[in-house]
Amino acid sequence: MSNLEYYQDIYQKLLIADGHCDTILDLFKSGRSFWANEQSGHIDWPRITSSKMNLQFLAFYIEPQFKPHGALCRVLELLAFYNKLKLEKEVTTVLSKSDLCSLKPESECRFLLAIEGGEVLESKLSTLSILFQLGFRSLTLTWNQRNFLADGAWENNSKGGLTQLGKQVVLEMNRLGMLIDVSHLSTAGFWDVLALTDKPIAATHSCCAALFDHPRNLSDAQLLALKEVNGIIGINFYPDFLGDKNGGVDLVIKHLEHAASIAGIDFVGLGSDYDGIDHTPLGLEDISKLPSIVDKLIKRGWQEEDIRKVMGGNFIRVLKEVLPNA
Ligand SMILES: [Zn+2]
Repeated sequence: MSNLEYYQDIYQKLLIADGHCDTILDLFKSGRSFWANEQSGHIDWPRITSSKMNLQFLAFYIEPQFKPHGALCRVLELLAFYNKLKLEKEVTTVLSKSDLCSLKPESECRFLLAIEGGEVLESKLSTLSILFQLGFRSLTLTWNQRNFLADGAWENNSKGGLTQLGKQVVLEMNRLGMLIDVSHLSTAGFWDVLALTDKPIAATHSCCAALFDHPRNLSDAQLLALKEVNGIIGINFYPDFLGDKNGGVDLVIKHLEHAASIAGIDFVGLGSDYDGIDHTPLGLEDISKLPSIVDKLIKRGWQEEDIRKVMGGNFIRVLKEVLPNA
């Protein structure tokens, strides 16, 4: 088998998952089509198809002007937009474990709905189960600032973690079957979540602080702790978090390999942050370039089984442990 055939053979057999993108808001604001490649943005259906993506998280990012009051309404507005998109072509929203068990490498991409910012709850625990009923399966507890649930990464100096409501939210998300996302959370908040959760958690789009010290990146101790709860870090493609504005695919690989060396190969995945980042690594300009990661991993001597885990297998395993059965 030639190198190219070997590469294509491996790629065809992978389940590919991406733990974070901000495409919904980008589509909503820009008016570009999701169903055509208009050469703008990072993600659309044609490019998802060419990347062979199987599971794409869609984070509903709440812009500052809608926080704290108006956050829920804004998320509902974005949900109505997503539901309208779905009318144009039938796509599957992942709601339960069975939506993941039926995924095959050749399956069309399915979407997991997430919200980026606990402000959406408008300080009521009961909002969570309503959002669950509406189809959301993940919540990033904070963005960078402080909210009703916890302090964000920009408030690290405060040493503030989860509020009482934040603690209730963690338990309720465990109960409902929603994935807790600790990207953007303060360090103290991270440890508070770890102490409470009885399900795996995710840092869906973060990088490694040992390689680049940034409030959005996780320390080695945090990477190890993710392993303790069977969780996952999705490596963010944003050059400002990776540590070199002019970096390329190799830099993403460096963070993948570091996270795997500390937490273990079963606890690392991809969290591109596409359509939420203003520049991308060279060679990873949009979602269609994902094969270049696999190409590099093969050249660096990664085993097929390890590539399978990092490219999507791990995220799917975590979700199978968290989401409701049906
Ligand atoms: Zn984010």
